[in-house]
Formats: sequence, C-alpha cells, structure tokens
Amino acid sequence: MAAAEGCVAGAADTMSKTIVLMGAPGAGKGTQARLLQERMHLPQISTGDIFRALKHADTPLAKEVRDIMQRGQLVPDEVTIQLVKERTAKDDCKDGYILDGFPRTPAQAASLDNLAAEQGKQIVPIQIEVPYDLLEKRMTGRRNCPVCNEIYNIYFKPPRHDNVCDLHPEAQLVHRADDNSETVRKRLATYEEQTRPLLDYYDSKGLLRVVDGDRDTESIYRDVEATVKDE
Ligand code: AMP
Repeated sequence: MAAAEGCVAGAADTMSKTIVLMGAPGAGKGTQARLLQERMHLPQISTGDIFRALKHADTPLAKEVRDIMQRGQLVPDEVTIQLVKERTAKDDCKDGYILDGFPRTPAQAASLDNLAAEQGKQIVPIQIEVPYDLLEKRMTGRRNCPVCNEIYNIYFKPPRHDNVCDLHPEAQLVHRADDNSETVRKRLATYEEQTRPLLDYYDSKGLLRVVDGDRDTESIYRDVEATVKDE
C-alpha cells in the first residue's frame, strides 16, 4: 500500500479530519459514530447503513449486495470505494466526516489515503477494542429503532419495554438480517482475515489510537472525542 502524502497526524491543526472508527463488527462503532455526529456535528458515513438502504431496491446490484451481506462477506472494493468517494464529495463533508465500517480491506485503505490527500484531510483512525468473546452476543442481541436508528441490545442495553424504542413506542425494533449467529460468525472471520491487518497498517504509520470499548457508552465516548480533539 502506498503511503499518501498530506494526511499525517499532527501535520496541521487546521486540517479537517477523516475520523475512521475501526474495530470488529459489534465493537460499538455505530453507537460512537452516532454520538460523534450528534455532538461534533460531523456527518457519519456508514457503508453498512448505505448497503442496507438498498434492501428494497429491485436492481441486480442491490440483489448482489443483499446476498453478499447475508453470507457475511464483503461487497467488492470497486463498488464500495466509488460509493465513499461520491458520498464524501458532498458539501456536508468539507469540514470533516466520520467513517464507520470503511476501510475494510487494504485496497480500501489505500484509496482512502489518496482520497484524504486529495481532500486535504487528516486521517484519524480510532480502534474500539472489545474482548473477542463479547462480540457475538453484542451482535446477536442488537436491535435498532427504525425511526431514530437508536441501537439497543437485549443483553446489555434493553429497551424499557419489550422490543420497542424508548423514544418511539409505536416502532417495533428491528433485528438486522445479518445479525443471526451463523452470519455473525462468518462476519467475524471476514474481519479477522481482511480487516484486522489494517490496524497494523495504521499503527505502523504512527496513526492508530486505541480506546477501550468494554465500558459504558459515555466513558468510551469521552475517550473517542478526546482522541479526535487531540489529533
Ligand atoms: P456493518 O453494518 O458495517 O457491519 O456492515 C454490514 C455489511 O455490509 C458487511 O458485513 C458487508 O457485507 C457490507 N459492508 C459494509 N461496509 C463494507 C465495506 N467497507 N466493504 C465491503 N463491504 C462492506
């Protein structure tokens, strides 16, 4: 992977940031990305959410993406990279943005280096580290509100009333199709094989910051926000 110029941590305090939330599926990237979006007013770009939004589209690409997700595999790099390029070119990204679920392969990381250099952005990769044996329960127990996207967990953060959002009691919570035990195990294997090596990649460039993700949401957030502001 070629190291791109112009995106070295600490190079320029005035540079806007590409915050990259990293970590295994179930580590809590989505929860932290939502909080950063709300409190730091930066757009959250979740490639998983974008692919899930294709759920009802009746095109060959949408069908292919649905099948890939159901198998716990990754959508091809060309499709994913193009999507991130287009989304991050929008006006709301000019002061920085948060990536949740991208990059996931060496080719995606290389393209992000180039993109950040072109956009004059500093990459801030933050790993949310969670013990491996917690991840499966975090994913199989996960439920989302279809209205506000709040993330619950039947084991760790249950809603006040069974299967409905605390803020939108009219809405039944949704269990993601790929959060079943079989797909979860495949997603974890895909992560180990294709995405975990990116932690070493960013670490070797001196960019990676690690936050302990085995705590309550607010404690994790305090560290994530402090890391973003420090860099
Ligand atoms: P997530 O919500 O981030 O766990 O993503 C759900 C699924 O979307 C993944 O298991 C992949 O099938 C697909 N996906 C999300 N982000 C990417 C990416 N950066 N590259 C390839 N596939 C992705």
